[in-house]
Amino acid sequence: MRTDSGQIFRLEDYRESDYLIPEVELTFLLDPQETLVRARLVVERRENVAAVTALELDGDGLNLSSLAIDGTPATGTAFEATPDRLIIARPPSAKRFTLDIETRLQPSRNKALMGLYVSSDVFCTQCEAEGFRRITYFLDRPDILSVYTVRIEADKKAAPLLLSNGNPVESGKLDGGRHFAVWHDPHPKPSYLFALVAGDLGMVSDSFTTASGRKVALGVYVEHGNETRAAYAMDALKRSMRWDEERFGREYDLDVFNLVAVSDFNMGAMENKGLNIFNDKYVLADADTATDLDFANIEAIIGHEYFHNWTGNRITCRDWFQLCLKEGLTVFRDHEFSADQRSRPVKRIAEVRGLRAHQFPEDQGPLAHPVRPRRYREINNFYTATVYEKGSEVVRMIRTILGEDAFCAGMDLYFERHDGQAVTIEDFIKAFEDASDRDLAQFALWYHQAGTPHVAISSRYDAGEKSFTIEIEQSVPPTPSESRKRLMHIPLAFGLVGADGQDMVFDAVEGAVVEDGVIHVRKRHHSVRFTGVPARPVLSINRGFSAPITLSGETSTDDRLFLARHDSDPFSRWQSLNTLFTEALLSATRTVRGGDEPLFASELVGAAVSLAANDALEPAFRALALTLPGEPDVAREIGANIDPDAIHTARIALLKAIAREGRATFDALYAGLHDNAPFMPDAAGAGRRALRNVLLEYLALADENPAPAKRQFDAADNMTDRAAALTVLANHFGETQEARAALSAFEARYADDPLVLDKWFQIQASVPAPETVALMRSLMEHPHFSITNPNRVRALIGTFAMGNQRAFHSADGSGYRLVADTVLALEAHNPQVAARLATAFRSWRSLETGRRDEARRVLSDIAKHENLSRDLADIVERTLA
Ligand SMILES: [Zn+2]
Repeated sequence: MRTDSGQIFRLEDYRESDYLIPEVELTFLLDPQETLVRARLVVERRENVAAVTALELDGDGLNLSSLAIDGTPATGTAFEATPDRLIIARPPSAKRFTLDIETRLQPSRNKALMGLYVSSDVFCTQCEAEGFRRITYFLDRPDILSVYTVRIEADKKAAPLLLSNGNPVESGKLDGGRHFAVWHDPHPKPSYLFALVAGDLGMVSDSFTTASGRKVALGVYVEHGNETRAAYAMDALKRSMRWDEERFGREYDLDVFNLVAVSDFNMGAMENKGLNIFNDKYVLADADTATDLDFANIEAIIGHEYFHNWTGNRITCRDWFQLCLKEGLTVFRDHEFSADQRSRPVKRIAEVRGLRAHQFPEDQGPLAHPVRPRRYREINNFYTATVYEKGSEVVRMIRTILGEDAFCAGMDLYFERHDGQAVTIEDFIKAFEDASDRDLAQFALWYHQAGTPHVAISSRYDAGEKSFTIEIEQSVPPTPSESRKRLMHIPLAFGLVGADGQDMVFDAVEGAVVEDGVIHVRKRHHSVRFTGVPARPVLSINRGFSAPITLSGETSTDDRLFLARHDSDPFSRWQSLNTLFTEALLSATRTVRGGDEPLFASELVGAAVSLAANDALEPAFRALALTLPGEPDVAREIGANIDPDAIHTARIALLKAIAREGRATFDALYAGLHDNAPFMPDAAGAGRRALRNVLLEYLALADENPAPAKRQFDAADNMTDRAAALTVLANHFGETQEARAALSAFEARYADDPLVLDKWFQIQASVPAPETVALMRSLMEHPHFSITNPNRVRALIGTFAMGNQRAFHSADGSGYRLVADTVLALEAHNPQVAARLATAFRSWRSLETGRRDEARRVLSDIAKHENLSRDLADIVERTLA
């Protein structure tokens, strides 16, 4: 564990290393208890660096067995080795020399899951961001690009499979029941992309022929017995490879591509060159064990890691401040992939909901940081929604501003100009500027400035002059360490919607640059005047969520209902209804806090019911439209002095009001959506199931009767329907015999399937009731709960802390204490996962005073612990600051 030294890393301190490592040869003598690693590094002094300049390599908890310099064993004062550093004060004066470094590792004792570790008897590695230095001493930074040759030796029975990056070169038998394999990766890469896997795994094989005719052998490796559950992942991989050729002109560049699923993994997946390692949650799926959301996630994450081959691996980051260079761009690419494979509007709405749920609270709280941060204490804490999701939105805005053709030209130029390099955000932006001849200097603030911009809108129509004027005012709220903000370039897609639902044409516009349906907001205030507008339009603004901002305006309920019914932009239709729901919930929450029963406008309730029944809209869209804003969405809108209990009560009241009004309609729809065809994980089938499952909750609430959910649970032939029914039972009817029976049946059926059992933990952790805290304590004693398996911790504790606003924020502070206890227990062996969990406290200041005091007390108690890891100390101190 790296204890906190308080050191801050700053972007402006970047300088090139004095040495390069063009070639690396690694030999692993694998043994779970003690593995010997021999590293031969070819070291090259840069031009203009003095010959006696010291060489300082990074380590993390290493144990040096031996060192040789240019083949001669080094002794005494020739070097200084600590667990964290290997310093050679006077390296050879030749421009090139070799180092032979031997280290000894204990993979089976590595519970931090960084570096080389063992998961279910399989050796595997995780090196991003700074895990390679837990394997050998190295210049462990992304701008050191090396050609790797890797030899792996292991017991043949325990590890018949030996994989590393690149192409297989050689393999054979050794004495004592051992064997070896040699891999060579011809593409120079940074150390964070190194990977090794060795173990006894089942394989699904296939092949892919690239556009230029290269035949690539594909392998997906899973635990024996799980092979049939890997078919969808293989299919998604082949579709990803084809899509990247067709959409971005990017071909795969090795003879093999391997993908391995492991059960103990700190993150989703890792894009190691030619050897992607996945959390098995994002590989294994079939109808009986995975929901439609699981299938969609697998497709997206397989695509994401594969797309990194060009955006991340071939072109990598100069330093970790540039993380969004690979992540934001690759998220953009995987969003586009999913949109092309599924429904584009539905995908967009889901993206925006995710952005608002995860990134907006980050931007509005103590952990706010720019898409490209300027400083960090622990880089592991910057794998955030801001870097990933907002980073993707920024790339999306570049496309909106430049248009599709210029955007593609910019991407092509970026690939051509920087292939094989480690580059910066400035290089990325420059490619678009050069390809389009546009100035993106003001736009680049999206990378450099934290916080969610706010845009206030008002409009008026002058019937005499036939003009329509929009007043636009932008502001960016202050964020930690950035009190003064500069004005942004905000692309607002819009339409002036006429009474017939069509966009109206206008003669001229002044007050801002308006092109291709986009208003370019660049000043604090714009008064945008359209002339030749024959009648009062309804303004549809920020269509498709063209900019990741918050918006306020005085749009009337009638106009919003009109847009919900008629806007040609599906996102805007969804947004209009969603805004109406949010406003109703804000007002209802105030009513509840005042001690009264909330009431809801019949127009709103009626609009929801008629939208549900509108056959012209795809079922997946209707499902999203009928999904009320979540409790955290309402809390975010309230912003301060939040009472989670009141929000919960208000939201249940609106659900029930819609349920009672729509009962007959929903009943008929629910029955009609059922089909007897076998389960297919395609978008159309998933959409029908999504709508049916949203309706199920309404139907159960209409009569306050668990029977419809219990019927669906018993009859379900797929996990989507089964888990949805169980969720309704657990959330609304937890005390009933039906709910208890269903939970027991589920547990018994899937007792031996960890991924499905995670869902059982997750469903119970998300029950929005104060009693959930006590239930959590008993679930943590469950024989299947394990604090060393990150998936299990995320399913139970992560869901509770991040996805159960009401119980986590229990007024007596018991939810906070539960999470704090877990964070401290985790911290001892896996600081990365502990720190991630601690971010659940990030919105504590916006709560009402009682809860705020409880949260502060619990956070301060964590901060007082001695020897906190750098990961956790960083999060807790920033959250309290
Ligand atoms: Zn990624």
